[in-house]
Amino acid sequence: MAKIDITEKVVSLAKRRGFVFQSSEIYGGLNGCWDYGPLGVEMLNNIKQSWWKEMTYRENIEGIDAAILMHPRVWEASGHVENFTDPMVDCKECKGRFRADQLEETDCGNKGYKGRKAIKCHQEGKFTEARNFNLMFKTFVGPLEDSSNVVYLRPETAQGIYVNFLNVKEASRQKLPFGIAQIGKAFRNEINTKNFLFRTREFEQMEMQFFIRPDEDEKWFEYWKEQRVNWFIKNGIPKEKLNIHVHEKLAHYAKAAVDIEYEFPFGFGEIEGIHNRTDFDLKRHTEYSGKKLEYFDDQTKERFTPFVIETSAGASRSFMAFLLNSYDEEEVVKENSDGTKSTEVRTVLHLHPSFAPIKAAVFPLVNRDGMQDIAANITEDLRNYMRVFYDDSGAVGRRYRRQDECGTPYCITVDSETLTNNTVTIRDRDTMAQERINKDNLVEFILKKIK
Ligand code: ATP
Repeated sequence: MAKIDITEKVVSLAKRRGFVFQSSEIYGGLNGCWDYGPLGVEMLNNIKQSWWKEMTYRENIEGIDAAILMHPRVWEASGHVENFTDPMVDCKECKGRFRADQLEETDCGNKGYKGRKAIKCHQEGKFTEARNFNLMFKTFVGPLEDSSNVVYLRPETAQGIYVNFLNVKEASRQKLPFGIAQIGKAFRNEINTKNFLFRTREFEQMEMQFFIRPDEDEKWFEYWKEQRVNWFIKNGIPKEKLNIHVHEKLAHYAKAAVDIEYEFPFGFGEIEGIHNRTDFDLKRHTEYSGKKLEYFDDQTKERFTPFVIETSAGASRSFMAFLLNSYDEEEVVKENSDGTKSTEVRTVLHLHPSFAPIKAAVFPLVNRDGMQDIAANITEDLRNYMRVFYDDSGAVGRRYRRQDECGTPYCITVDSETLTNNTVTIRDRDTMAQERINKDNLVEFILKKIK
């Protein structure tokens, strides 16, 4: 059976409900850039917070937040000035620009050839020779736009960690093995952006560099691969939707590399890379800066340059994977006001509760008998602990549906019984089952579930 591409539906829901908007939309948008709306920024923060806790609430990992702009020599040392390129070709007919290694997946730019892939035009000889295009964005520091003032927007967060290796080691008194983690924006002037948040020019990364003895690299590579796969599974991605792609052809700095891939509607795509970067980066920065980025082992009395195992996840790509993975359309039975039953489709985001932007919605069943005040008080109480939404407009069924589309795991309704015995109904987003609980126990009940 043909797979249905739900991306379009998810992009439309993302806009309608305020998860993701096109950047500068009122001016026609800017290619490869997206804005996170009220629910999107909440969900993205939840993902980043989960990663941050997972990675840095450990004895041997420290966090940093390095500047986006760095000394230009950093990018010479790292190899980015020379090597961070993609092969680019131009189509002589439609004047489109394409990544030469992605012609099979990229649509031809010719309006008359709708749905045709660029590889076809390539085979027909319409393309120029491939030439290398550097993906780093350049800008200038200070008022003079000359070559001595060039700086780059970082294309990865990792280098901010390497250049701080000694600072962090000394300030935190860590001993090998230890890691440094960072979340932050990265910029790549991608030749072709596509697939919503998958390939954008501005995005966020969640990276951790783990510094180790060189002879322990294989052990730690395996350890981090497993840890990272488990994080995705623990947060709701089914195992069968993940794939480990082992790289045969390695980047200039790597000894081993795997991608954790998610099955997007367009096929498997990388969401995180695990790399054994050897001592390449620390040695290069030692060479270019003249500062020895080494480690002295007190016990063995050895001095050496540590190896690095890197875990490099895209926060934005993971966001897209979690959002797509949670999307569902379910047929449900609806009770009509005349007592008859009919079916309807409910759209629901089965997000992991800890990632859901709103944790609970509170409704007065009807707007009388003081139910609104009780619901408003419950909302205020819960707000001390989580993001909550109060809604008293429309039929309760419609209010449930709106929250289902936002992925809200719990909906609380104040009804006439609340007035007599202090209980409310709490409805579970996934099962749609309702139970009655005392309203004083709501905080504890929900906190336990969304942990
Ligand atoms: P790709 O081959 O897809 O271009 P990459 O191998 O260059 O990716 P890395 O340099 O390993 O990617 O970056 C680590 C992570 O950063 C990726 O797994 C991905 O989640 C994210 N990432 C990289 N490039 C982009 C981009 N243009 N847009 C969104 N996320 C990105």
